[in-house]
Amino acid sequence: MNFTNPFLDRDGDKLREECGVFGVIGAKDAASMTALGLHALQHRGQEAVGITSFDGSEFYSHRGIGHVAQVFNSAERLAELPGAMASGHVRYSTTGGSGLRNVQPLFADLASGGFSIAHNGNISNAMHLKRDLVQKGAIFQSTSDTEVIIHLVATSRYPTLLDRFVDALRMVEGAYSLICMTSEGMIACRDPLGIRPLVMGRIGDAIVFASESVALDVVGAELIRQIEPGELVQVDHKGTISSHRPFGNFNARPCIFEHVYFSRPDSVLDGQSVYNVRKQIGVELAKESLAAADLVIPVPDSGVPAAIGYAQQSGIPFELGIIRSHYVGRTFIQPSDGARHADVKRKHNANRALVEGKRIVLIDDSIVRGTTSMKIVQMMRDAGAAEVHMRIASPPTEHSCFYGVDTPERSKLLAARMDIQAMAEFIQADSLAFVSIDGLYRAVGEAGRNKGCAQYCDACFTGDYPTRLTDLAERDTPDLLTLPINRVA
Ligand code: SF4
Repeated sequence: MNFTNPFLDRDGDKLREECGVFGVIGAKDAASMTALGLHALQHRGQEAVGITSFDGSEFYSHRGIGHVAQVFNSAERLAELPGAMASGHVRYSTTGGSGLRNVQPLFADLASGGFSIAHNGNISNAMHLKRDLVQKGAIFQSTSDTEVIIHLVATSRYPTLLDRFVDALRMVEGAYSLICMTSEGMIACRDPLGIRPLVMGRIGDAIVFASESVALDVVGAELIRQIEPGELVQVDHKGTISSHRPFGNFNARPCIFEHVYFSRPDSVLDGQSVYNVRKQIGVELAKESLAAADLVIPVPDSGVPAAIGYAQQSGIPFELGIIRSHYVGRTFIQPSDGARHADVKRKHNANRALVEGKRIVLIDDSIVRGTTSMKIVQMMRDAGAAEVHMRIASPPTEHSCFYGVDTPERSKLLAARMDIQAMAEFIQADSLAFVSIDGLYRAVGEAGRNKGCAQYCDACFTGDYPTRLTDLAERDTPDLLTLPINRVA
């Protein structure tokens, strides 16, 4: 993904995952399988896609701007990517970061041979490392933070590629789930805190890696397990798998927002069904913030599982009071403000016959800037709702993410500017409530948040960033935390 510029004002009223990765080794049509897997990960990035393959002697690559089905739109195109090993990447760029040169997988010819890398996450000291590398003579081809890893591998003095790779990653801070290819095979790894997800599966003799288990389902692969935080898995062309733990032991801090919104509900994350966790968040929300209402209505689609949980716990009937059109482009592919606001109305319509005269509880996954929530509340009032109570299946989003999720700068986040009462007035709801941070932790199976040592990354809710944020600190931004990595002895 791109160098994150925390000072950029980004469009959109949802936090957006920026990347998804997929890789397979030992499959007859590796590139076709990769395209299929990326298609299942399309929700993680819609701007651009790339696939690199290896046929035993050469690497092949095709990258393009657009959805998977647009860029890989013919059998001929996929036939140009031969070989039994392939990896791919879907991405959603941050402002200023679009362009073909940033589309992954990135590839470089190193002294040891070809090296391809696909990255989900964000390196929070990439600018710092890049400055140093450029001073030493490195010439960058992209504005992607991922390219820093290539340069660090290229300049490492260790004898083997694996050692050089580990040496490079030791210098990197932040979030990374990586799928790399060399002529020797495939390497998949996850940062020591496991911030972004990565799973491993098998289909026949082929080994598959993907950001989410849903991509394994779609290609017909069986989920073996997740790549553990800090684990590096190597697979050679004979199918030999070796696991390495080069970074020592850390308390894992996977992104809790994957459960709330980013991952597909049919994925299994950290051993748990994302759908079930979302339903459970709705249960917690109903226990904590019951509204006197006639109907529970989800904001489609991401509010649906939590709304089902809320309805089951509260006994208030669940109904589809907002109908989503599936035939409009998703809002974030139209970057201008005007186009985005028009899209809210094109995308969602009130089911007037249902809501007229009713007291409703609207369930959504999060509030970012609040503009979409305001429009949806107004839409329900225009359709005749007697009362509109908003319930949110995550705690207030008060802080920006620096780990591979596209967020507005902090001053644009509604919860960073207002208390809950003021937010309710801003979106013009009769009442507003968020699930508590402990309620969210209970929904993922914990007793609550461990304050001394949180079990997940929840920094966008708490400000407790689990890594240093060197690039941010070097820009002298006093209101953002820089905390040391939480290492276990
Ligand atoms: S800051 Fe929020 S969105 Fe980013 S990794 Fe942490 S929990 Fe996930």
